[in-house]
Amino acid sequence: RFITFEGGEGVGKSTQVKRLLSHLAEISVDAVRTREPGGTPKAEAVRSFILQGRSETWGAGAEAVLFAAARLDHVNELIAPNLAKGTWVISDRFSDSTRAYQGLTGGVDAKLIDALESLALDGHTPDLTIVLDMDPETAFQRVAQRAIEDGLTLTGDRFEKEELDWHRRLRDGFLDIARTNADRCVVLSADQAEDSLENEIWSLVQSRFPE
Ligand code: C5P
Repeated sequence: RFITFEGGEGVGKSTQVKRLLSHLAEISVDAVRTREPGGTPKAEAVRSFILQGRSETWGAGAEAVLFAAARLDHVNELIAPNLAKGTWVISDRFSDSTRAYQGLTGGVDAKLIDALESLALDGHTPDLTIVLDMDPETAFQRVAQRAIEDGLTLTGDRFEKEELDWHRRLRDGFLDIARTNADRCVVLSADQAEDSLENEIWSLVQSRFPE
Protein backbone atom coordinates (compact mmCIF):
# COMPACT_ATOMS: atom_id res chain seq x y z
CA ARG A 1 0.00 0.00 0.00
CA PHE A 2 1.14 3.46 -0.87
CA ILE A 3 -0.15 6.30 1.34
CA THR A 4 0.77 9.96 0.94
CA PHE A 5 0.20 12.93 3.22
CA GLU A 6 -0.32 16.35 1.70
CA GLY A 7 -1.22 19.84 2.84
CA GLY A 8 0.06 23.36 3.33
CA GLU A 9 2.74 24.56 5.73
CA GLY A 10 2.44 24.00 9.46
CA VAL A 11 -0.46 21.53 9.30
CA GLY A 12 1.42 18.84 11.25
CA LYS A 13 2.01 16.21 8.55
CA SER A 14 5.30 14.88 9.88
CA THR A 15 3.89 14.13 13.34
CA GLN A 16 0.96 12.24 11.85
CA VAL A 17 3.17 10.29 9.45
CA LYS A 18 5.29 9.09 12.39
CA ARG A 19 2.22 8.14 14.40
CA LEU A 20 0.75 6.16 11.53
CA LEU A 21 4.05 4.27 11.25
CA SER A 22 3.83 3.38 14.96
CA HIS A 23 0.30 2.03 14.54
CA LEU A 24 1.38 -0.09 11.58
CA ALA A 25 4.37 -1.42 13.53
CA GLU A 26 2.04 -2.40 16.40
CA ILE A 27 0.09 -4.69 14.09
CA SER A 28 3.32 -5.93 12.43
CA VAL A 29 2.79 -4.33 9.04
CA ASP A 30 6.11 -3.65 7.30
CA ALA A 31 6.22 0.00 6.34
CA VAL A 32 8.80 2.61 5.39
CA ARG A 33 8.56 6.32 6.02
CA THR A 34 9.79 8.68 3.36
CA ARG A 35 9.33 12.25 2.24
CA GLU A 36 9.36 14.64 -0.68
CA PRO A 37 11.02 16.63 -1.90
CA GLY A 38 13.68 14.00 -1.22
CA GLY A 39 13.46 10.41 -0.02
CA THR A 40 16.64 9.06 -1.66
CA PRO A 41 20.19 10.49 -1.52
CA LYS A 42 19.94 11.93 -5.04
CA ALA A 43 16.45 13.34 -4.47
CA GLU A 44 17.56 14.84 -1.13
CA ALA A 45 20.38 16.57 -3.01
CA VAL A 46 17.81 18.11 -5.37
CA ARG A 47 15.76 19.18 -2.34
CA SER A 48 18.65 21.07 -0.74
CA PHE A 49 19.68 22.52 -4.06
CA ILE A 50 16.21 23.99 -4.67
CA LEU A 51 15.09 24.93 -1.19
CA GLN A 52 18.28 26.80 -0.30
CA GLY A 53 18.09 30.31 -1.65
CA ARG A 54 15.39 29.24 -4.06
CA SER A 55 13.93 32.53 -5.17
CA GLU A 56 17.21 33.82 -6.63
CA THR A 57 17.72 31.03 -9.08
CA TRP A 58 14.78 28.93 -10.16
CA GLY A 59 11.27 29.70 -11.25
CA ALA A 60 8.31 27.42 -10.61
CA GLY A 61 8.64 25.72 -14.02
CA ALA A 62 12.24 24.69 -13.46
CA GLU A 63 11.39 23.63 -9.90
CA ALA A 64 8.60 21.39 -11.24
CA VAL A 65 11.02 19.73 -13.68
CA LEU A 66 13.73 19.27 -11.04
CA PHE A 67 11.28 17.89 -8.48
CA ALA A 68 10.01 15.47 -11.14
CA ALA A 69 13.58 14.26 -11.76
CA ALA A 70 14.00 13.75 -8.03
CA ARG A 71 10.66 11.92 -7.91
CA LEU A 72 11.66 9.58 -10.71
CA ASP A 73 14.65 8.51 -8.63
CA HIS A 74 12.49 8.25 -5.48
CA VAL A 75 9.95 6.03 -7.26
CA ASN A 76 12.57 3.84 -8.94
CA GLU A 77 14.91 3.42 -5.99
CA LEU A 78 12.60 3.39 -2.99
CA ILE A 79 8.86 3.41 -3.64
CA ALA A 80 8.50 0.77 -6.38
CA PRO A 81 10.93 -1.77 -4.84
CA ASN A 82 9.26 -1.58 -1.44
CA LEU A 83 5.75 -1.87 -2.84
CA ALA A 84 6.90 -4.82 -4.95
CA LYS A 85 7.94 -6.77 -1.86
CA GLY A 86 4.74 -5.89 0.00
CA THR A 87 6.17 -3.18 2.25
CA TRP A 88 3.88 -0.22 2.76
CA VAL A 89 5.27 3.17 1.78
CA ILE A 90 4.13 6.26 3.69
CA SER A 91 5.32 9.53 2.18
CA ASP A 92 5.28 12.98 3.72
CA ARG A 93 4.32 14.86 0.51
CA PHE A 94 4.39 13.46 -3.02
CA SER A 95 3.32 14.54 -6.50
CA ASP A 96 0.24 16.49 -5.35
CA SER A 97 2.63 18.96 -3.72
CA THR A 98 4.18 19.76 -7.10
CA ARG A 99 0.72 20.28 -8.55
CA ALA A 100 -0.29 22.51 -5.63
CA TYR A 101 2.95 24.51 -5.16
CA GLN A 102 4.44 24.78 -8.66
CA GLY A 103 1.19 24.24 -10.60
CA LEU A 104 -1.89 25.76 -9.02
CA THR A 105 -0.03 28.28 -6.85
CA GLY A 106 3.14 28.79 -8.93
CA GLY A 107 1.37 29.11 -12.29
CA VAL A 108 2.98 26.19 -14.13
CA ASP A 109 0.69 24.89 -16.86
CA ALA A 110 -1.40 21.87 -15.86
CA LYS A 111 -0.36 20.03 -19.04
CA LEU A 112 3.31 20.21 -18.05
CA ILE A 113 2.46 19.05 -14.52
CA ASP A 114 0.44 16.13 -15.98
CA ALA A 115 3.30 15.14 -18.30
CA LEU A 116 5.92 15.29 -15.54
CA GLU A 117 3.65 13.35 -13.22
CA SER A 118 3.07 10.48 -15.62
CA LEU A 119 6.79 10.35 -16.38
CA ALA A 120 7.88 10.26 -12.74
CA LEU A 121 5.11 8.07 -11.31
CA ASP A 122 5.06 5.46 -14.06
CA GLY A 123 1.78 4.13 -12.68
CA HIS A 124 2.70 4.43 -9.01
CA THR A 125 -0.29 6.51 -7.99
CA PRO A 126 -0.92 6.52 -4.23
CA ASP A 127 -3.67 4.19 -2.97
CA LEU A 128 -4.67 6.79 -0.42
CA THR A 129 -3.80 10.47 -0.04
CA ILE A 130 -4.59 12.17 3.23
CA VAL A 131 -4.90 15.93 2.78
CA LEU A 132 -4.49 17.72 6.08
CA ASP A 133 -6.46 20.91 5.88
CA MET A 134 -6.19 23.94 8.10
CA ASP A 135 -7.05 27.61 7.98
CA PRO A 136 -3.77 29.39 7.09
CA GLU A 137 -4.16 31.85 9.98
CA THR A 138 -4.17 28.97 12.45
CA ALA A 139 -1.27 27.30 10.68
CA PHE A 140 0.69 30.55 10.83
CA GLN A 141 0.17 30.77 14.59
CA ARG A 142 1.44 27.21 14.96
CA VAL A 143 4.54 27.82 12.90
CA ALA A 144 5.25 31.06 14.78
CA GLN A 145 4.78 29.31 18.12
CA ARG A 146 7.13 26.51 17.12
CA ALA A 147 9.76 29.04 15.99
CA ILE A 148 9.50 30.88 19.31
CA GLU A 149 9.87 27.60 21.23
CA ASP A 150 12.92 26.71 19.12
CA GLY A 151 14.40 30.16 19.72
CA LEU A 152 14.27 30.94 16.01
CA THR A 153 13.02 34.01 14.23
CA LEU A 154 10.67 33.89 11.30
CA THR A 155 12.82 36.25 9.28
CA GLY A 156 13.30 34.93 5.78
CA ASP A 157 10.79 32.16 6.34
CA ARG A 158 8.28 31.64 3.60
CA PHE A 159 5.62 31.69 6.28
CA GLU A 160 5.21 35.40 6.73
CA LYS A 161 1.95 37.02 7.49
CA GLU A 162 2.00 39.15 4.36
CA GLU A 163 1.92 35.92 2.44
CA LEU A 164 -1.36 34.80 3.91
CA ASP A 165 -3.05 35.13 0.52
CA TRP A 166 -0.47 32.82 -0.97
CA HIS A 167 -1.22 30.26 1.76
CA ARG A 168 -4.94 30.60 1.07
CA ARG A 169 -4.35 29.86 -2.61
CA LEU A 170 -2.18 26.91 -1.68
CA ARG A 171 -4.91 25.53 0.57
CA ASP A 172 -7.51 25.97 -2.19
CA GLY A 173 -5.11 24.18 -4.55
CA PHE A 174 -4.92 21.11 -2.31
CA LEU A 175 -8.71 21.11 -1.83
CA ASP A 176 -9.14 21.30 -5.58
CA ILE A 177 -6.77 18.34 -6.10
CA ALA A 178 -8.71 16.37 -3.47
CA ARG A 179 -12.02 17.07 -5.27
CA THR A 180 -10.59 16.05 -8.64
CA ASN A 181 -9.11 12.84 -7.21
CA ALA A 182 -11.87 11.93 -4.80
CA ASP A 183 -11.26 8.19 -5.33
CA ARG A 184 -7.92 8.33 -3.49
CA CYS A 185 -8.00 11.63 -1.55
CA VAL A 186 -9.54 12.22 1.87
CA VAL A 187 -9.50 15.68 3.42
CA LEU A 188 -9.19 15.75 7.22
CA SER A 189 -9.26 18.82 9.40
CA ALA A 190 -5.86 19.41 10.99
CA ASP A 191 -7.45 22.00 13.24
CA GLN A 192 -7.98 19.52 16.07
CA ALA A 193 -5.87 17.93 18.79
CA GLU A 194 -3.01 15.76 17.47
CA ASP A 195 -4.34 12.69 19.30
CA SER A 196 -7.80 12.95 17.83
CA LEU A 197 -6.42 13.51 14.32
CA GLU A 198 -4.16 10.49 14.85
CA ASN A 199 -7.21 8.37 15.73
CA GLU A 200 -9.13 9.66 12.75
CA ILE A 201 -6.26 8.75 10.42
CA TRP A 202 -5.82 5.30 11.95
CA SER A 203 -9.55 4.51 11.60
CA LEU A 204 -9.46 5.69 8.01
CA VAL A 205 -6.45 3.52 7.14
CA GLN A 206 -7.95 0.46 8.82
CA SER A 207 -11.27 0.88 7.04
CA ARG A 208 -9.60 1.45 3.64
CA PHE A 209 -7.26 -1.50 3.97
CA PRO A 210 -8.99 -4.03 6.23
CA GLU A 211 -6.79 -6.96 5.20
O1 C5P B 1 6.76 19.55 3.99
P1 C5P B 1 8.07 20.22 4.24
O2 C5P B 1 8.00 21.24 5.33
O3 C5P B 1 9.21 19.26 4.39
O4 C5P B 1 8.39 21.03 2.90
C1 C5P B 1 9.58 21.75 2.79
C2 C5P B 1 9.38 22.99 1.96
O5 C5P B 1 9.36 22.66 0.59
C3 C5P B 1 8.11 23.72 2.26
O6 C5P B 1 8.43 24.98 2.76
C4 C5P B 1 7.42 23.85 0.94
O7 C5P B 1 7.06 25.18 0.75
C5 C5P B 1 8.45 23.47 -0.08
N1 C5P B 1 7.91 22.71 -1.21
C6 C5P B 1 7.77 23.33 -2.43
N2 C5P B 1 7.31 22.62 -3.51
C7 C5P B 1 7.01 21.33 -3.41
C8 C5P B 1 7.14 20.68 -2.16
C9 C5P B 1 7.60 21.40 -1.09
O8 C5P B 1 8.02 24.51 -2.55
N3 C5P B 1 6.59 20.67 -4.48
